[in-house]
Amino acid sequence: MNPLLDFSGLPRFADFKPEIVAPAVDRLLVENRAVIERVTAPSVPCTWHDFVRPLEDANERLRRAWGVVGHLNSVMNSPELREAYNSNLPKVTQYYTELGQHEGLFAKFKALRAGAGFEGLTSAQKKIVDNELRDFRLGGAELTPPRKARFKEISERLSQLSSRFSDNLLDATNAFAHYITDAADAAGLPEDVLAAAREAAQAEGRPGWKLTLHAPSYLPVMQYADRRGLRELMYRAYVTRASEFGKTEWDNTPLIAEILVLRREQARLLGFASFAEYSLEAKMAESPQQVLDFLNELAAQAQPYARRDLEEVTGFARDELGLDELEAWDLAYASEKLRLKRYDFSDQEVKQYFPEPRVLPGMFKLVETLYGLTIEAAEAPVWHPDVRFFSIRDRAGGLVGQFFVDLYARPSKRGGAWMDEAVTRRVKEERVQAPVAYLNCNFSAPVAGKPAVFTHDEVNTLFHEFGHGLHHLLTRVDYLGVSGINGVEWDAVELPSQFMENFCWEWDVLRPMTAHVDTGMPLSRALFDKMLAAKNFQSGMQTVRQIEFSLFDLQLHHDFDPAGGKSALDLLDDVRRRVAVMFPPAYNRFPNNFSHIFSGGYAAGYYSYKWAEVLSADAYSLFEENGVLDPETGQRFWNEVLAMGGSRPALESFVAFRGREPKIEALMRHSGMGGGAGAPT
Ligand code: ZN
Repeated sequence: MNPLLDFSGLPRFADFKPEIVAPAVDRLLVENRAVIERVTAPSVPCTWHDFVRPLEDANERLRRAWGVVGHLNSVMNSPELREAYNSNLPKVTQYYTELGQHEGLFAKFKALRAGAGFEGLTSAQKKIVDNELRDFRLGGAELTPPRKARFKEISERLSQLSSRFSDNLLDATNAFAHYITDAADAAGLPEDVLAAAREAAQAEGRPGWKLTLHAPSYLPVMQYADRRGLRELMYRAYVTRASEFGKTEWDNTPLIAEILVLRREQARLLGFASFAEYSLEAKMAESPQQVLDFLNELAAQAQPYARRDLEEVTGFARDELGLDELEAWDLAYASEKLRLKRYDFSDQEVKQYFPEPRVLPGMFKLVETLYGLTIEAAEAPVWHPDVRFFSIRDRAGGLVGQFFVDLYARPSKRGGAWMDEAVTRRVKEERVQAPVAYLNCNFSAPVAGKPAVFTHDEVNTLFHEFGHGLHHLLTRVDYLGVSGINGVEWDAVELPSQFMENFCWEWDVLRPMTAHVDTGMPLSRALFDKMLAAKNFQSGMQTVRQIEFSLFDLQLHHDFDPAGGKSALDLLDDVRRRVAVMFPPAYNRFPNNFSHIFSGGYAAGYYSYKWAEVLSADAYSLFEENGVLDPETGQRFWNEVLAMGGSRPALESFVAFRGREPKIEALMRHSGMGGGAGAPT
């Protein structure tokens, strides 16, 4: 039997080979298409049992098998596996497209919704049916044939345009290089950045250093390069990528205009006034106006702090760095110097206090205390010897869920940190199928016989991903479509993850997690206080910048007329005049590289970052009121938020937990903008 088709337990990593992928995928696709054929036959009753369940079973098998392939492709990449993944991906994508446009399925879901049996379903089942119908509608399933054809045509064109947008940006980024040979030009740059730059130059047979617009090169230049002219040169190249200042074929300006026109047309075909309305239909925010009000309120509160931040760094740059006029290419540089002067500690120093054998148990202890659970190491087949596996049990010893932890970076693993589902909780043949998660990070592995040590940022990341993991693992929903993170609104899905980060700033949680890797000494209160003080450095300016991007995105997709006389850049200027404190030079073409909204999934959704932060901070404030380790509050968070998954709207879950609608005060306070004495006005 093909190990990918064995769904009886945990994935069989030990038996995996790239050559088993294609036969498994092909067989599942044939089987699934046969299931769809069967359940959409007129003779099959439109009931959960006869229609939804077989469909759910079939789709779960594909998702689990393909999930293993995708997971391994991300964490144990090899030329053979990449080839197997890429050659099967189009088949899988094609299947999901068919599924989303299948008229027989849509008709059957409509009949189920209208039928007598619907009222007898559980609320989770009802939510799944309603979500299905919503997604069919938003995908154009209800349009008349000519409109449907136009809708499909627009969708295809839009996907070409967004992929061209990111290709242009990548090509323009890659095309730029600046070589320096004079050591004086390299002054200020950190050793590791210089080493990489020298290697890059050597690879081309050139002397000196090669600087590029990729983040690991560009960002340190902006932050550390003492040569102001170098910063300016790099800045200008960076902010004019894929614009009319570069190669015509890479200019994203016409693409932006076309994308906006087509998105509006698509939204209008479906009866929405704007693309923002369409985008919000499946999100937690109710209307573009609600998001605008939210962002404007946040802006009004953050602006005095942002102005103060700017005054401080401007004064510092003038008095101590001799920069009379603080330019856009000076901001990161001067800010870094100010930060160093004000909070004299380094990430390296802090890092020595967070060895892995303290951090992981410390994080588990927190979860055990909050939710009355036990987490213990367990056995499972793994994909790499560094991977560990754990079981979560409740007070009675019952299995709640299990998870893999893969902490270290290696060449075969993609960057970043993420949580993924291996098995999702559901009830199957009257038995609970316990959920299983993958937690993946890219931390440094242990060296020289010492345990791995983590920066505080990395500890934050670990807590964040474990928060997503708990959302997946602690669900009590019995049906796949809304179990765990499934069916949770896009702008609310970061609530449980950002929520967990708060604990990394609690002395009582953090201190027991620390022991200096050489001396065994715990973190001192004095160093912790410095970390706390540095946490909110320039949070006013950062908040205002996020709001600027969010407002630009939302208005662009709402009340902006893409066919009118104004350009996206004009709108951005308007937004900046209203909320920004720092203004870039006129040649800045930020929209041309705003890939989140033109080639990512964030169109009319960029606000989600701040939105979810408000929710998580406000949820956490109940813990601050009741005691941050209060098990009763923990139980309530589990019951009302984590356990519910996507089975009801996120707002309902939030209100059930918090006892009221979300407020922005907690986020402002956590960001050091809580008002009170000494607050700027
Ligand atoms: Zn996240």
